[in-house]
Amino acid sequence: MNLVIFGPPGAGKGTQSKFIVKKYNLHQLSTGELLRQEIKNKTRLGEKIESIINSGNLVSDEIVSNLIKKFIADNSYNNRLVFDGYPRNLNQAQNLDRLLNQHNQKIDIVLKLSVGLEVIKKRILERQIQEDRKDDNLEIAIKRFNTYEKSTEPVLDYYKQSNLLKIINGEATIDEINVEISGLIERFKGWL
Ligand code: AMP
Repeated sequence: MNLVIFGPPGAGKGTQSKFIVKKYNLHQLSTGELLRQEIKNKTRLGEKIESIINSGNLVSDEIVSNLIKKFIADNSYNNRLVFDGYPRNLNQAQNLDRLLNQHNQKIDIVLKLSVGLEVIKKRILERQIQEDRKDDNLEIAIKRFNTYEKSTEPVLDYYKQSNLLKIINGEATIDEINVEISGLIERFKGWL
């Protein structure tokens, strides 16, 4: 089973991905975390993308595609990937289908965590204290939310067509969301 976890910045994608991968022995593929790792390790790519990420813009489709390719090609992750933060636009969604298809895989479920801007603002400010992310301040958070609405949210129509989309109230508690996601996954697996 391959999953996409979808939602605005601060929706809880990372938190829920970590929960799912542990419970169902999957692998989290967070493009944001991979990019932050490049910055931390001061690689050439890291230097190139640091200012883009810190200003709340998206990096190029080519850069993120190159990051996810090797995970999709890796047999040990075959049908075990949780895409967190990818795709962020229609081109990326089509690219993801193409890459998976090359390895006889597909997306099985798209989980969308719905959260409004007011809750997002509150969460991002809390996360800023906990994680010290440079892109987690109010101004940049609003910009990232706007980019999400403009470029990322339209991708949902793409997934709606193939009936993969499950919408979850991302403003519920972490535990409530855990239970709902588990139910969806287990129904998919035929356990329920
Ligand atoms: P995230 O941790 O998912 O919130 O991502 C943090 C930042 O990394 C984003 O604001 C973008 O600058 C960049 N990023 C992460 N994933 C992508 C993606 N799929 N496409 C473009 N940029 C991305």
